[in-house]
Amino acid sequence: MWKIEASGRMDKDFVLLILSSPSGAGKTTLTRKLLESFPELRFSVSHTTRAPRANEVDARDYHFTDRRGFEAMVEAGAFLEWAEVHGNLYGTSLAEVDRAKADGCRGMIFDIDYQGARQIRAKLPTVTGVFILPPSMQELERRLRGRASETEEVVQRRFAVAKLEIEHYAFFDYVIVNDEIDKAFDQLRAVILAERARRTRRASLAEALLRERKA
Ligand code: ADP
Ligand code: 5GP
Repeated sequence: MWKIEASGRMDKDFVLLILSSPSGAGKTTLTRKLLESFPELRFSVSHTTRAPRANEVDARDYHFTDRRGFEAMVEAGAFLEWAEVHGNLYGTSLAEVDRAKADGCRGMIFDIDYQGARQIRAKLPTVTGVFILPPSMQELERRLRGRASETEEVVQRRFAVAKLEIEHYAFFDYVIVNDEIDKAFDQLRAVILAERARRTRRASLAEALLRERKA
């Protein structure tokens, strides 16, 4: 079982990236592009009690489960974080992160809400949080509607919660406006590259160079 170190740190070159936004702002689209560009990163497949959308595949998009199964996992302490979002339960299992580490991945992307982001940050302070904003509320509504898989009721519910989610933007390290997808993607890419160059991740390399000079 994967253990969180006492310092709250995972391995230095393992980047943990949280992507959060109101529903419809473009997290899923951006995540897909990220995984194409950074195949060494792993998408964290959450568990959810939500019903699958027509284009979703079990174990690729989510581990779809019923409420009872989800609650049993909560009882067993199997989640790194979990929360109720839009009336459904969602959670990141510890096993998901374990597997990525065992497979030699260089990091994980979590598509989770602000409640989950808060729980992960409390356990792993070095996590990087990115909040995606739509260019306007009108465009957000248009995108929610454009996702043909949703009923009008679901669109309305998600839109109503959007402002609550946006209220939590200050909790994140970076805020990216997803107006043009390519521009938003460039910014997200830049965040990952910058996170990899953090001093705290480079300390052992710098120390090795200093030792070389002395020798
Ligand atoms: P989320 O995962 O945040 O709920 P999605 O990635 O599913 O959002 O995007 C919602 C809808 O908006 C999708 O139909 C997607 O194709 C579209 N979309 C995403 N980004 C953009 C963009 N920059 N411009 C126009 N449409 C977009
Ligand atoms: P959707 O139903 O559109 O896939 O996701 C709805 C919301 O749930 C999004 O804000 C998404 O980020 C969030 N979500 C998805 N998986 C998780 C998870 O494992 N934990 C938490 N806390 N939120 C999640």
